[in-house]
Amino acid sequence: MHIKVIKAYKKFECIASGCGDSCCDGWRIDIDENSAYLYKKHTGELKEMIEQNLLKDEKGYHFRLKDGHCPFLNKEKLCDIYRCMGKDALSQVCTSFPRKMNIYGNSMDVFLNMSCPRAAELMLSGDGLEMEEYEDDITNTDAGNEEKTVGQIKELFMNIAKATNLSTKRKLIIMLYIADTIKREKKDAPDIIETYLREGFAELDNSLPPDEHIKNERIRNDVIMELTEMYAYICEKRQYKSIHEKTDNKNMSEEEVYERYFVYYILRHMCHEDYDTIYEKTVMLCVSYMMIKKLTETNNDIVRCIQHYCKIFEHSKKDNGLLKNTIYENGFDRFEIIIVSLQ
Ligand code: SF4
Repeated sequence: MHIKVIKAYKKFECIASGCGDSCCDGWRIDIDENSAYLYKKHTGELKEMIEQNLLKDEKGYHFRLKDGHCPFLNKEKLCDIYRCMGKDALSQVCTSFPRKMNIYGNSMDVFLNMSCPRAAELMLSGDGLEMEEYEDDITNTDAGNEEKTVGQIKELFMNIAKATNLSTKRKLIIMLYIADTIKREKKDAPDIIETYLREGFAELDNSLPPDEHIKNERIRNDVIMELTEMYAYICEKRQYKSIHEKTDNKNMSEEEVYERYFVYYILRHMCHEDYDTIYEKTVMLCVSYMMIKKLTETNNDIVRCIQHYCKIFEHSKKDNGLLKNTIYENGFDRFEIIIVSLQ
Protein backbone atom coordinates (compact mmCIF):
# COMPACT_ATOMS: atom_id res chain seq x y z
CA MET A 1 0.00 0.00 0.00
CA HIS A 2 1.14 3.53 -0.80
CA ILE A 3 0.94 5.68 2.35
CA LYS A 4 1.10 9.49 2.40
CA VAL A 5 1.39 11.30 5.72
CA ILE A 6 1.22 15.09 6.04
CA LYS A 7 4.09 16.63 8.03
CA ALA A 8 1.67 18.28 10.47
CA TYR A 9 0.56 14.80 11.59
CA LYS A 10 3.90 14.04 13.23
CA LYS A 11 4.24 17.53 14.70
CA PHE A 12 0.80 17.49 16.30
CA GLU A 13 0.47 17.51 20.08
CA CYS A 14 -2.69 18.46 21.92
CA ILE A 15 -2.20 21.78 23.73
CA ALA A 16 -5.04 20.97 26.19
CA SER A 17 -5.59 23.94 28.54
CA GLY A 18 -3.83 26.24 26.02
CA CYS A 19 -6.39 25.40 23.32
CA GLY A 20 -8.45 28.31 21.93
CA ASP A 21 -11.43 25.97 21.53
CA SER A 22 -11.84 22.44 22.89
CA CYS A 23 -12.77 19.16 21.30
CA CYS A 24 -14.83 18.58 24.47
CA ASP A 25 -17.10 21.49 23.54
CA GLY A 26 -19.89 22.01 21.02
CA TRP A 27 -20.72 18.49 19.80
CA ARG A 28 -21.85 15.04 20.92
CA ILE A 29 -19.11 12.90 22.48
CA ASP A 30 -19.55 9.24 21.51
CA ILE A 31 -18.07 6.62 23.79
CA ASP A 32 -17.01 3.20 22.47
CA GLU A 33 -18.28 0.01 24.15
CA ASN A 34 -14.93 -0.91 25.79
CA SER A 35 -14.50 2.51 27.37
CA ALA A 36 -18.13 2.54 28.52
CA TYR A 37 -17.55 -0.85 30.18
CA LEU A 38 -14.44 0.51 31.94
CA TYR A 39 -16.28 3.65 33.13
CA LYS A 40 -19.21 1.65 34.47
CA LYS A 41 -16.82 -0.47 36.56
CA HIS A 42 -15.10 2.59 38.03
CA THR A 43 -15.46 2.86 41.82
CA GLY A 44 -13.30 5.92 42.49
CA GLU A 45 -13.84 9.68 42.59
CA LEU A 46 -15.81 9.84 39.33
CA LYS A 47 -18.26 7.02 40.08
CA GLU A 48 -21.27 9.28 40.68
CA MET A 49 -20.44 11.61 37.78
CA ILE A 50 -20.21 8.63 35.44
CA GLU A 51 -23.52 7.20 36.64
CA GLN A 52 -25.24 10.52 35.97
CA ASN A 53 -23.61 11.34 32.64
CA LEU A 54 -22.90 8.16 30.71
CA LEU A 55 -26.00 7.66 28.55
CA LYS A 56 -27.00 5.16 25.89
CA ASP A 57 -29.35 5.66 22.94
CA GLU A 58 -29.91 4.04 19.53
CA LYS A 59 -26.52 5.34 18.33
CA GLY A 60 -24.64 3.96 21.35
CA TYR A 61 -22.98 5.38 24.46
CA HIS A 62 -22.29 9.08 24.85
CA PHE A 63 -21.83 11.69 27.56
CA ARG A 64 -24.61 14.03 28.65
CA LEU A 65 -23.35 17.51 27.74
CA LYS A 66 -23.30 20.26 30.35
CA ASP A 67 -23.85 23.74 28.82
CA GLY A 68 -22.72 22.31 25.48
CA HIS A 69 -19.49 20.71 26.72
CA CYS A 70 -18.26 17.40 28.16
CA PRO A 71 -19.12 17.15 31.87
CA PHE A 72 -15.60 15.85 32.56
CA LEU A 73 -13.93 18.99 31.21
CA ASN A 74 -12.87 20.81 34.38
CA LYS A 75 -12.37 24.53 35.13
CA GLU A 76 -8.69 24.33 34.14
CA LYS A 77 -9.86 23.04 30.72
CA LEU A 78 -8.36 19.64 31.51
CA CYS A 79 -10.00 16.22 31.43
CA ASP A 80 -11.09 14.71 34.77
CA ILE A 81 -11.11 11.19 33.31
CA TYR A 82 -7.45 11.61 32.34
CA ARG A 83 -6.67 13.14 35.77
CA CYS A 84 -8.40 10.45 37.86
CA MET A 85 -8.18 7.30 35.72
CA GLY A 86 -5.09 7.92 33.59
CA LYS A 87 -4.36 8.36 29.89
CA ASP A 88 -5.27 4.75 29.02
CA ALA A 89 -8.84 5.32 30.22
CA LEU A 90 -9.55 7.87 27.47
CA SER A 91 -12.15 6.68 24.97
CA GLN A 92 -11.30 5.89 21.34
CA VAL A 93 -12.63 9.19 20.04
CA CYS A 94 -10.74 11.18 22.69
CA THR A 95 -7.49 9.34 21.93
CA SER A 96 -7.64 9.53 18.15
CA PHE A 97 -9.01 13.04 17.54
CA PRO A 98 -7.94 14.99 15.47
CA ARG A 99 -6.09 12.24 13.59
CA LYS A 100 -7.75 10.94 10.44
CA MET A 101 -7.03 8.57 7.56
CA ASN A 102 -8.64 7.79 4.20
CA ILE A 103 -8.07 4.51 2.39
CA TYR A 104 -8.90 4.25 -1.32
CA GLY A 105 -7.64 1.45 -3.52
CA ASN A 106 -4.02 0.80 -2.68
CA SER A 107 -3.46 4.22 -1.15
CA MET A 108 -3.84 5.67 2.31
CA ASP A 109 -3.74 9.38 3.21
CA VAL A 110 -3.00 10.23 6.85
CA PHE A 111 -3.77 13.75 8.08
CA LEU A 112 -5.54 15.79 10.78
CA ASN A 113 -9.03 17.21 11.14
CA MET A 114 -9.06 20.96 10.80
CA SER A 115 -11.75 21.29 13.46
CA CYS A 116 -8.93 21.24 16.04
CA PRO A 117 -7.34 24.73 16.37
CA ARG A 118 -3.81 23.36 16.82
CA ALA A 119 -4.20 21.05 13.81
CA ALA A 120 -5.58 23.97 11.76
CA GLU A 121 -2.58 26.13 12.67
CA LEU A 122 -0.14 23.39 11.72
CA MET A 123 -1.84 22.57 8.41
CA LEU A 124 -2.44 26.16 7.35
CA SER A 125 1.17 27.25 7.86
CA GLY A 126 4.75 26.19 7.04
CA ASP A 127 5.22 22.75 5.52
CA GLY A 128 2.25 21.25 7.43
CA LEU A 129 0.47 19.91 4.34
CA GLU A 130 3.56 18.57 2.58
CA MET A 131 3.46 14.78 2.27
CA GLU A 132 5.95 12.13 3.29
CA GLU A 133 5.46 8.94 1.28
CA TYR A 134 6.02 5.29 2.21
CA GLU A 135 5.27 1.84 0.82
CA ASP A 136 4.21 -1.04 3.07
CA ASP A 137 3.67 -4.73 2.32
CA ILE A 138 -0.13 -4.74 2.49
CA THR A 139 -2.00 -4.87 -0.83
CA ASN A 140 -5.68 -4.11 -1.20
CA THR A 141 -6.76 -6.80 -3.66
CA ASP A 142 -10.21 -5.16 -4.08
CA ALA A 143 -8.71 -2.00 -5.58
CA GLY A 144 -10.33 -1.36 -8.97
CA ASN A 145 -10.79 1.25 -11.66
CA GLU A 146 -13.15 3.31 -9.56
CA GLU A 147 -10.48 3.91 -6.91
CA LYS A 148 -7.99 4.75 -9.64
CA THR A 149 -10.36 7.42 -10.98
CA VAL A 150 -10.96 8.82 -7.50
CA GLY A 151 -7.18 9.06 -6.96
CA GLN A 152 -6.79 10.85 -10.31
CA ILE A 153 -9.53 13.36 -9.50
CA LYS A 154 -7.76 14.10 -6.24
CA GLU A 155 -4.47 14.65 -8.08
CA LEU A 156 -6.11 16.87 -10.71
CA PHE A 157 -7.92 19.02 -8.14
CA MET A 158 -4.72 19.30 -6.06
CA ASN A 159 -2.95 20.65 -9.17
CA ILE A 160 -5.71 23.23 -9.66
CA ALA A 161 -5.70 24.21 -5.96
CA LYS A 162 -1.94 24.79 -6.07
CA ALA A 163 -1.81 26.61 -9.44
CA THR A 164 0.01 29.89 -8.78
CA ASN A 165 -1.41 31.71 -11.82
CA LEU A 166 -5.08 31.33 -10.83
CA SER A 167 -7.15 33.45 -8.43
CA THR A 168 -8.94 31.68 -5.58
CA LYS A 169 -12.28 32.17 -7.32
CA ARG A 170 -10.89 30.91 -10.63
CA LYS A 171 -9.65 27.69 -9.03
CA LEU A 172 -13.16 26.95 -7.76
CA ILE A 173 -14.80 27.77 -11.09
CA ILE A 174 -12.42 25.42 -12.93
CA MET A 175 -12.92 22.61 -10.40
CA LEU A 176 -16.70 23.01 -10.55
CA TYR A 177 -16.67 23.11 -14.35
CA ILE A 178 -14.70 19.84 -14.48
CA ALA A 179 -16.93 18.23 -11.81
CA ASP A 180 -20.02 19.29 -13.80
CA THR A 181 -18.54 17.79 -17.00
CA ILE A 182 -17.78 14.53 -15.15
CA LYS A 183 -21.40 14.48 -13.89
CA ARG A 184 -22.80 14.90 -17.40
CA GLU A 185 -20.34 12.59 -19.21
CA LYS A 186 -20.35 9.79 -16.63
CA LYS A 187 -19.07 7.06 -18.94
CA ASP A 188 -16.21 9.17 -20.28
CA ALA A 189 -15.18 10.56 -16.86
CA PRO A 190 -11.88 8.58 -16.64
CA ASP A 191 -10.83 9.84 -20.11
CA ILE A 192 -11.76 13.44 -19.28
CA ILE A 193 -9.74 13.34 -16.06
CA GLU A 194 -6.73 11.73 -17.75
CA THR A 195 -6.78 14.36 -20.50
CA TYR A 196 -6.74 17.24 -17.98
CA LEU A 197 -3.97 15.52 -16.01
CA ARG A 198 -1.90 15.10 -19.16
CA GLU A 199 -2.57 18.42 -20.87
CA GLY A 200 -3.31 20.73 -17.93
CA PHE A 201 -6.23 23.16 -17.66
CA ALA A 202 -4.80 26.34 -19.28
CA GLU A 203 -7.00 25.88 -22.35
CA LEU A 204 -10.11 25.47 -20.19
CA ASP A 205 -9.12 28.57 -18.20
CA ASN A 206 -8.79 30.59 -21.42
CA SER A 207 -12.15 29.39 -22.73
CA LEU A 208 -14.08 30.63 -19.66
CA PRO A 209 -15.13 34.30 -19.29
CA PRO A 210 -12.94 36.47 -17.02
CA ASP A 211 -13.70 36.40 -13.26
CA GLU A 212 -15.19 39.92 -13.24
CA HIS A 213 -17.86 38.85 -15.75
CA ILE A 214 -18.91 35.87 -13.62
CA LYS A 215 -20.83 37.53 -10.81
CA ASN A 216 -24.34 38.49 -9.76
CA GLU A 217 -24.61 40.50 -6.53
CA ARG A 218 -28.32 39.86 -6.02
CA ILE A 219 -28.00 36.08 -6.33
CA ARG A 220 -24.87 36.11 -4.19
CA ASN A 221 -26.61 38.06 -1.41
CA ASP A 222 -29.58 35.64 -1.44
CA VAL A 223 -27.30 32.60 -1.23
CA ILE A 224 -25.15 34.07 1.55
CA MET A 225 -28.19 35.19 3.57
CA GLU A 226 -29.75 31.70 3.58
CA LEU A 227 -26.45 30.02 4.44
CA THR A 228 -25.64 32.49 7.22
CA GLU A 229 -29.04 32.04 8.87
CA MET A 230 -28.63 28.28 8.86
CA TYR A 231 -25.09 28.57 10.30
CA ALA A 232 -26.28 30.81 13.15
CA TYR A 233 -29.15 28.38 13.88
CA ILE A 234 -26.74 25.41 14.23
CA CYS A 235 -24.31 27.36 16.46
CA GLU A 236 -27.17 28.33 18.75
CA LYS A 237 -28.65 24.84 18.83
CA ARG A 238 -25.30 23.36 19.81
CA GLN A 239 -24.59 26.15 22.27
CA TYR A 240 -21.30 26.49 20.42
CA LYS A 241 -19.54 29.70 21.34
CA SER A 242 -18.68 32.35 18.79
CA ILE A 243 -15.22 32.80 17.34
CA HIS A 244 -13.05 34.75 19.74
CA GLU A 245 -9.55 33.31 20.18
CA LYS A 246 -6.68 34.36 17.95
CA THR A 247 -4.55 31.80 16.14
CA ASP A 248 -1.09 32.28 14.72
CA ASN A 249 -1.40 32.34 10.93
CA LYS A 250 2.15 33.58 10.31
CA ASN A 251 0.84 36.56 8.32
CA MET A 252 0.09 34.56 5.21
CA SER A 253 -1.92 36.11 2.41
CA GLU A 254 -5.60 35.19 2.12
CA GLU A 255 -4.90 33.38 -1.19
CA GLU A 256 -2.23 31.22 0.46
CA VAL A 257 -4.53 30.24 3.32
CA TYR A 258 -7.38 29.37 0.94
CA GLU A 259 -5.01 27.34 -1.23
CA ARG A 260 -4.09 25.30 1.84
CA TYR A 261 -7.70 24.96 2.88
CA PHE A 262 -8.58 23.65 -0.61
CA VAL A 263 -5.72 21.13 -0.43
CA TYR A 264 -7.01 19.98 2.96
CA TYR A 265 -10.61 19.75 1.71
CA ILE A 266 -9.55 17.68 -1.33
CA LEU A 267 -7.47 15.40 0.89
CA ARG A 268 -10.26 14.93 3.41
CA HIS A 269 -13.32 14.71 1.16
CA MET A 270 -12.52 13.78 -2.42
CA CYS A 271 -11.37 10.22 -1.63
CA HIS A 272 -13.61 9.72 1.38
CA GLU A 273 -16.09 6.91 0.90
CA ASP A 274 -19.59 8.32 1.06
CA TYR A 275 -22.58 8.68 -1.21
CA ASP A 276 -21.80 12.16 -2.46
CA THR A 277 -20.70 12.56 -6.08
CA ILE A 278 -17.63 14.54 -7.14
CA TYR A 279 -19.95 17.36 -8.25
CA GLU A 280 -21.70 17.45 -4.85
CA LYS A 281 -18.36 17.46 -3.03
CA THR A 282 -17.13 20.33 -5.23
CA VAL A 283 -20.34 22.28 -4.55
CA MET A 284 -19.66 21.85 -0.83
CA LEU A 285 -16.11 23.14 -1.32
CA CYS A 286 -17.50 26.28 -3.01
CA VAL A 287 -20.10 26.73 -0.26
CA SER A 288 -17.49 26.30 2.48
CA TYR A 289 -15.35 28.97 0.81
CA MET A 290 -18.33 31.36 0.67
CA MET A 291 -19.23 30.77 4.30
CA ILE A 292 -15.66 31.08 5.59
CA LYS A 293 -15.31 34.33 3.63
CA LYS A 294 -18.52 35.57 5.24
CA LEU A 295 -17.19 34.65 8.72
CA THR A 296 -14.02 36.67 8.07
CA GLU A 297 -16.14 39.82 7.66
CA THR A 298 -16.61 39.87 11.44
CA ASN A 299 -13.37 38.13 12.45
CA ASN A 300 -10.17 38.76 10.52
CA ASP A 301 -8.52 35.62 11.89
CA ILE A 302 -9.07 33.42 8.84
CA VAL A 303 -7.48 30.31 10.43
CA ARG A 304 -9.95 30.49 13.31
CA CYS A 305 -12.86 30.96 10.87
CA ILE A 306 -11.82 27.85 8.90
CA GLN A 307 -11.46 25.82 12.10
CA HIS A 308 -14.88 27.00 13.31
CA TYR A 309 -16.55 26.09 10.01
CA CYS A 310 -14.92 22.61 10.00
CA LYS A 311 -16.05 21.98 13.55
CA ILE A 312 -19.64 22.82 12.66
CA PHE A 313 -19.94 20.72 9.51
CA GLU A 314 -17.26 18.04 9.27
CA HIS A 315 -18.41 15.77 12.09
CA SER A 316 -22.17 15.94 12.33
CA LYS A 317 -24.20 14.15 9.66
CA LYS A 318 -27.28 15.89 10.97
CA ASP A 319 -25.92 19.42 10.67
CA ASN A 320 -24.24 18.58 7.39
CA GLY A 321 -27.68 17.39 6.26
CA LEU A 322 -29.18 20.76 7.24
CA LEU A 323 -26.55 22.51 5.15
CA LYS A 324 -27.28 20.22 2.18
CA ASN A 325 -31.03 20.80 2.53
CA THR A 326 -30.49 24.56 2.44
CA ILE A 327 -28.34 24.20 -0.67
CA TYR A 328 -30.54 21.75 -2.61
CA GLU A 329 -33.98 23.05 -1.65
CA ASN A 330 -32.97 26.53 -2.85
CA GLY A 331 -31.24 25.29 -6.00
CA PHE A 332 -27.88 26.70 -4.84
CA ASP A 333 -26.15 23.59 -6.20
CA ARG A 334 -26.78 24.66 -9.80
CA PHE A 335 -23.56 25.41 -11.65
CA GLU A 336 -24.76 28.81 -12.91
CA ILE A 337 -25.89 29.86 -9.40
CA ILE A 338 -22.73 28.81 -7.59
CA ILE A 339 -20.25 30.43 -9.95
CA VAL A 340 -21.94 33.86 -9.86
CA SER A 341 -22.10 33.68 -6.05
CA LEU A 342 -18.34 33.25 -5.61
CA GLN A 343 -16.44 36.36 -4.62
S1 SF4 B 1 -9.25 20.68 19.99
FE1 SF4 B 1 -7.18 19.88 19.54
S2 SF4 B 1 -5.71 21.12 20.75
FE2 SF4 B 1 -7.83 21.52 21.52
S3 SF4 B 1 -8.07 20.12 23.24
FE3 SF4 B 1 -8.86 19.02 21.44
S4 SF4 B 1 -7.12 17.85 20.52
FE4 SF4 B 1 -6.30 19.37 22.02
